[in-house]
Amino acid sequence: MMLQDPAILQTRAFIGGSFVSATGGATFAVVNPATGERISDVADCPAADALHAVASAETAFRSWRGLLAKERAACLRRLYDLMLSHQEDLARLMTAEQGKPLAEARAEVAYAAGFFEWFGEEAKRLYGEVIPANAHGRRLLVLKQPVGVATAITPWNFPLAMIARKAAPALAAGCTFVVKPAAETPLSALALAELGCRAGLPAGVLNVVPGTGAAEIGEILTTDPRVRKFSFTGSTPVGKMLAGQCAGTVKKVSLELGGNAPFIVFDDADLDQAVAGAVASKFRNMGQTCVCANRFYIQDGIHEAFAARLAKAASDLLVGDGAAPGTAQGPLVSDRAVGKVEALVADALDNGATLVTGGSRHPAGRRFYQPTVLTGMTMAMRAAREEIFGPVATLFRFRDQREAIALANATPFGLAAYVYTRDLGRAWQVAEALEAGMVGVNEGVISTEVAPFGGVKESGLGREGGRAGIEDYVETKYVAMGGLGS
Ligand code: ADP
Repeated sequence: MMLQDPAILQTRAFIGGSFVSATGGATFAVVNPATGERISDVADCPAADALHAVASAETAFRSWRGLLAKERAACLRRLYDLMLSHQEDLARLMTAEQGKPLAEARAEVAYAAGFFEWFGEEAKRLYGEVIPANAHGRRLLVLKQPVGVATAITPWNFPLAMIARKAAPALAAGCTFVVKPAAETPLSALALAELGCRAGLPAGVLNVVPGTGAAEIGEILTTDPRVRKFSFTGSTPVGKMLAGQCAGTVKKVSLELGGNAPFIVFDDADLDQAVAGAVASKFRNMGQTCVCANRFYIQDGIHEAFAARLAKAASDLLVGDGAAPGTAQGPLVSDRAVGKVEALVADALDNGATLVTGGSRHPAGRRFYQPTVLTGMTMAMRAAREEIFGPVATLFRFRDQREAIALANATPFGLAAYVYTRDLGRAWQVAEALEAGMVGVNEGVISTEVAPFGGVKESGLGREGGRAGIEDYVETKYVAMGGLGS
């Protein structure tokens, strides 16, 4: 991998403003999922390093919170500029460690950078309130103050964006930050630390603690009393457990967990738009996003046409190394991920589903799976209940709007949902009835830094992005001033 600026490839932890080896000197290998090649060895931090990072963040908090919002915003803006001027290098690094096609990696860099720009601007508008007093001689005020040290654990599917969504509002609000990135993708996180350093973030404001001992590091990040806020993106069982760990010290918690997104297409939909949206929603990042369509509900009248068009579009996707020009589908992240996709497809076929295209591994390599379309799905199949996290579109039929809504909501999850229709009344009715934190109406990709991202039901707590995104990093303090005279 050739980088224009080789210094963004950092392999040691970033704690207290310096890149440091893990205490004890251990390392772990980061491997390119497309080729199986080792990219580099990265510091494998034990709990002691997480403690050190929390201590650095606590010290830095005292001065970082005291800066003017405008001064913090200037740092974040410089970081945004640096990310964009390093977009190509960051994208190459991300594709190497994560596998996604370069075009998607470039888009993720821009998306992640956008959070630093947007929340830097938002820092200046973190207004309090003056409440009309309830008695003479009093004034009632509401202050917004940073919660303190914020920690995060992030997944591998968006190695930069999942950190940016948390770090940007935290730093903007005046919090300091410690993140443990996923062990599959620590290099993007460490490159961000390098650029943060160049942007002038003071020592200890942003700390990155890579490691394979997730439970050990996670325990510090969720139980240390100096930590006031914890944010997690990852699987539902791990998120539930970590939220439980946070309860002991009553930390503020944000969770962005699994989804089981329905994608509903009514007979009156624009078929071209619906197919394009379905491809974008399902096959982006090889199906490895928490907002990927997991269940396609297609109305009877349009079902055959939609299935045929989607199958054609899926089989046209070019599968290969994400770094090669024109690749639309890279490898899945791990052997385990491929195994899970195989098991879900086998379960569906055993229970009566029909294979329209794909259905097996791809010759490009061990971690590649063919873009796949299945029809004849039923709610009894595993793929109806579990997140597929792979390039497999599962099609169910429905008769009418009421049935579609009932099927879509028949899950404990509620992250994203999508509906395609040209009937304006129906669009409103369905968007309001869906139990989801986000709804795309005639849109298959809806995430942006300017809007609130998050789930309902067991898909999570809190919102990232938009005005709500910074609220999770501030405390509301009520100040009553009396004895002021009338
Ligand atoms: P995925 O299946 O997508 O890898 P996980 O929830 O296992 O989802 O991983 C998301 C993040 O949570 C990763 O950074 C991982 O290292 C971390 N993680 C996994 N298990 C634990 C745990 N027991 N304690 C703390 N963090 C964990």
